[in-house]
Amino acid sequence: MTTPPQTRHVTLCVTHPGGDGHLTLDHHIPVDAADALLALVLAAPDTPDGGRHVTLHVSVPGRHPVDCIEVDDATADRVIAAMRAHMPERTYVDLLRELVDPDDCHFDHNGFCQAHGFSPPCPHAQAKTLLAALDQPAKETP
Ligand SMILES: [Zn+2]
Repeated sequence: MTTPPQTRHVTLCVTHPGGDGHLTLDHHIPVDAADALLALVLAAPDTPDGGRHVTLHVSVPGRHPVDCIEVDDATADRVIAAMRAHMPERTYVDLLRELVDPDDCHFDHNGFCQAHGFSPPCPHAQAKTLLAALDQPAKETP
């Protein structure tokens, strides 16, 4: 027997019918929250005119994705808020991790980074040093 997953992978896409602007949220959220989100979308009153298109993919074995149903604005906002409630805000550190180029610096004889195009010191190298220091377990003082 396998242990059931504690989270479900949820992809939510909300668009205006006119196509002006869309929002995609993709995250692993707790099973209960994912199922509640699915129930919320499925229970939404059908609004063929106006409203917003919602596409919801929830990783439930054997269940097909909910594709492009139309819901009223209030329901769309509730669905988005429910999803966002389970998505942690990115911290500066999270953003830095995503922005730093994993490729190594390549310095020329003047110390300029040819890989990233920065004057010395290359900010990618400095960012990696900072992040590595953060990843060190805190030293305990005896
Ligand atoms: Zn560099």
